[in-house]
Amino acid sequence: MTSHVHSQCPYCGVGCGLELLPPAAKGRATLRDHQGTPVWGARGDRGHPSSLGQVCIKGATVAQTLGNGRLSQPLYRPQLGQPLEPITWDEAFTILLQRIRSTMAGKGPQALAMYGSGQFHCEDYYLAQKLFKGALGTNNFDANSRLCMSSAVAGYTRSLGSDGPPCCYEDLDQCDLALLIGANMADCHPVLFQRLIKRHRKRRYKKNLQIVVVDPRQTDTSKAADLHLAIRPGTDLALLHGIGHLLLRQAALDFDFIEGCTEGFFAYARLLQEWTPTRVAAICGISSKDLRLVTRIWARSQSALSLWSMGVNQSVEGTATVSGLINLHLLTGQIGRPGAGPFSLTGQPNAMGGREAGGLAHLLPGYRHVGNPQHRSDVEAIWKLGPIAAEPGLSAWQQIEAMESGALDLWWVAATNPLVSMPHLERVKAAMASCPLVVVSEAYANTETSRWAHLVLPAAQWSEKDGVMVNSERRVTFCPGFRQAPGEARADWQVFAELGRRLGFVEQFSYESAAEVYGEMVSLSAGRVCDTSGLSHELLRQEGPQQWPFPAGALPNQDSRGLYCNGIFPTPTGRARFMADQPHGLAEPTNRAFPLVLTTGRYLGHWHTMTRTGQLERLRRMHPEPLLEVNPVDATSAGLVDGAFAIIRSRRGQATARVALRDQIRPGTVFLPMHWGASQKQPCAVNELMHALGCPISQQPELKAAAVQLASVP
Ligand code: SF4
Repeated sequence: MTSHVHSQCPYCGVGCGLELLPPAAKGRATLRDHQGTPVWGARGDRGHPSSLGQVCIKGATVAQTLGNGRLSQPLYRPQLGQPLEPITWDEAFTILLQRIRSTMAGKGPQALAMYGSGQFHCEDYYLAQKLFKGALGTNNFDANSRLCMSSAVAGYTRSLGSDGPPCCYEDLDQCDLALLIGANMADCHPVLFQRLIKRHRKRRYKKNLQIVVVDPRQTDTSKAADLHLAIRPGTDLALLHGIGHLLLRQAALDFDFIEGCTEGFFAYARLLQEWTPTRVAAICGISSKDLRLVTRIWARSQSALSLWSMGVNQSVEGTATVSGLINLHLLTGQIGRPGAGPFSLTGQPNAMGGREAGGLAHLLPGYRHVGNPQHRSDVEAIWKLGPIAAEPGLSAWQQIEAMESGALDLWWVAATNPLVSMPHLERVKAAMASCPLVVVSEAYANTETSRWAHLVLPAAQWSEKDGVMVNSERRVTFCPGFRQAPGEARADWQVFAELGRRLGFVEQFSYESAAEVYGEMVSLSAGRVCDTSGLSHELLRQEGPQQWPFPAGALPNQDSRGLYCNGIFPTPTGRARFMADQPHGLAEPTNRAFPLVLTTGRYLGHWHTMTRTGQLERLRRMHPEPLLEVNPVDATSAGLVDGAFAIIRSRRGQATARVALRDQIRPGTVFLPMHWGASQKQPCAVNELMHALGCPISQQPELKAAAVQLASVP
């Protein structure tokens, strides 16, 4: 009889351990999917060190979503507007090869691009890099992680010298201050939030743990906080400078750490002079009393942990804000010891693994950069595919602009649904319509994006292929295939390897298994910050999840909890850097015509664009429709009443949603969830409204804020 299987949840970046129970397991009522096939059960894996048996509703129901609405064979149409017709894989590869060759002969490899996903396993991510950056000769690979955490990558790199969160989940058990900024953990990282809250609720610990939440909106996260700072959207960096100003003025600094382990202090201290409490309070829309209070809490803390997510990253000053937060840790020596540090929570289950595989347009495997000649030659030596281009490829939004200008002839989307998740959706749609060949690799049929594709390739998803994922605390989990993929669906890494072989690189892409692919990927991490060269499928299968760094020869379950514990950072001088960035606020400020800031976010029961969670009646019932959260003051001005429908207009488009009056959202700000796209029963494609301007350093679009107006629906 098939036994229980251990894996990592394929939804959010918490990366909880799951125990999957076969359909015939004793004591299980047999649930069936839409095809009548019995489904596996799922429960928290008590043996997984990241989650200790805890799981949220998405993880607990994931197995019920896997068989429904699947794509099972390749489909093709020469022109949009024609019906997609079934073809064989051989025909699909022939089309791909012909179009790749003709594009390369005409415009060169820069006219090819792939837009991948944090849903990829490491093996998929890695071979996509080898195919594009190696075999095809273009760095035009980017991923939806660009929309999620590229500001965290850039912020860590410029402030600490390398990407890589220095913290781990045990820090939540040891900190005496948890500062949550731009992170609605209760809905987006629920298992981690429960871990923090359980400790906070226990009376004997309460005095030892203060929770401060920075968010313009009251959420279940902020309700649990000791202090909620409902700042104006786009003023996070000003707030952080205000705290820095007061810490400096009170001399609440770790002088030894600043002197021994950092550089750039004086330029930063000069900048802080300007950010007086009165000025900061006025800009952020909070009282100077609260600003002083949060500073006092930070100054008294023995172990300050900051946690952030997309509320910080999705901003035109996302990278500067990440650095602004790290500045506070450097100022007070709150890094490199238990319970302290700047901790970026990733959105997706394997966004971390993607970073390690080099899965952004400027990266190479092992946290390397395409602009660094030594880094390129390290990778070229392993790949044996010739020189890698020195210029960064097109980032996510640059790929859209390249389609608009006619510079891109082949756009390949894999494991993501950009026609819901990208900003300014009408532009994305028009760009796709103008691209000569759009390829979509997808597990589910009929997504918003595949409706605009010429070639649709059926993908095997998590549970149907062996692979590895890495969660927010650098924990690496082997995720075995334990179900049959439907019809002719194939793992993405197999498709990339087959294409590589058909392009003539037979030896370089002759992998027999995902384990072989992973072995090559980790060999490229040796000696790097993200060293996983001691890991293999075999070791992870036998020893369970492991945290990196895990160099060759390391023993399983060693203590790898914190990075930079010796105060040495991977910069040329070994010192962490203070960054002195001036805040500028939102890219699209409000005005008389568009007087409100629309901010967006997530619901607990849904995942991204609902291709998976939307398959389940129970989750659809939990959140039947998107609600527009409006403060009663703004609702009155716009003539809106609770429960009626409103039209939300920006400079780019409009959406309709039911009004939910909320005293707790700050006046001037309204909220919509991002999950619903055009395919839903009640469509409300919020990203139609959002602009595409992004952080100049990380290229991450400001998906968290756009200026809008409201009107009632007659
Ligand atoms: S918290 Fe995230 S990783 Fe954990 S079960 Fe829920 S969705 Fe999955």
